[in-house]
Amino acid sequence: MAKRDYYEVLGVPKTATEDDIRQAYRRLARQYHPDVAKENPKAAEEKFKEFSEAYEVLADADKRQKYDQLGFAGVETDFGPGGFNWQNFTHMGDLEDLLGASPLFQQVFAGFGMPFGGGGRMAGPYRGSDVELTIRLPLLAAVQGAHPTVEVPHTGPCADCHGTGARNGTALETCSECRGEGQVRRVQNRGYTQLITIAECPRCHGLGQRVLEKCPTCGGNGRTTTVERIELTVPPGVDDGSVLRVPGHGTVGVRGGRAGDLFVQVILEPSADFHREGTDLFSETTVPLSVALLGGEVEVATIEGRAALKIPAGTQPETQFRLRAKGFPRFRGSSRGDQIVTVHVEVPRSLSGHEKELLREALGAGSSAPSKRDWSFRRRSS
Ligand SMILES: [Zn+2]
Ligand SMILES: [Zn+2]
Repeated sequence: MAKRDYYEVLGVPKTATEDDIRQAYRRLARQYHPDVAKENPKAAEEKFKEFSEAYEVLADADKRQKYDQLGFAGVETDFGPGGFNWQNFTHMGDLEDLLGASPLFQQVFAGFGMPFGGGGRMAGPYRGSDVELTIRLPLLAAVQGAHPTVEVPHTGPCADCHGTGARNGTALETCSECRGEGQVRRVQNRGYTQLITIAECPRCHGLGQRVLEKCPTCGGNGRTTTVERIELTVPPGVDDGSVLRVPGHGTVGVRGGRAGDLFVQVILEPSADFHREGTDLFSETTVPLSVALLGGEVEVATIEGRAALKIPAGTQPETQFRLRAKGFPRFRGSSRGDQIVTVHVEVPRSLSGHEKELLREALGAGSSAPSKRDWSFRRRSS
């Protein structure tokens, strides 16, 4: 099926205001209410996804501009490689405000893998949705491994009110204004024409039900959030951008459904001193001219501390030396890559007349220098 134009999907003109777009979205969300979804949840999800994607783009001034200029190509990168999914949807709050208090809605959409829990009385079970997190670790973690602790918020239906927001889940009444429909129809007769408008019920704000007494546990919003602390095991050799999967620590399942999984993406903090390429580590060091000329040993920083580096006499500027096994571990292996050190040579900025004479003599530049060899400049710079 060809992708439909976002404006067409929402049924709004290109000139639509932010408010028009929001209204259009709410109208569609009500139209494809889970009471409809119950019959054919797969088709309803497709529909919901289609107009939620359109809303995601058009409700955001920046994304909308890119879409207006470049079409779908302009917003492609805002979503994952598989295109729009519920993880990309940033207006879940709107949807929950609109429909979230309906237990039926929560059950049906928990099954869609939407990022909030389900609950209620309908037969399940539904698997909980996956949770994605990102952690930032120092580069050293890729050498030694790490055990960072992450906090995973689990938002689910309030156990005390079964997600209804009403005390004990029972202090509810069907809205008398709309008789549970959530919308009101007004018919106006103007001469021969009949004008029918359908609007959100002002009494229950489209929910169809009214809470008589709020649930004290969740304050009436039907959901509670608990935070789970999990210690992760990051293996040595982990790559920047790797994703660790922790089974069963996503959103809890509904009615015995298994929990979703937790996915943690590892971002390795870039280091000013080291640059990583595969299992090799690149660094730089500067040695005095005397060391480059005569040879010597210098200390260089490694990712775990310091190591001695032998500089042979006559070392040219920008020569690269290899420190064996000071790089990154090969994943799940015991061997390690190397550290490659680029050596810069520090050339003294000024020399005394005496030093100049000595150098002219030593390097054969021709002069009337004294005969005694004295590499005193070496002491100055090392
Ligand atoms: Zn109502
Ligand atoms: Zn509650």
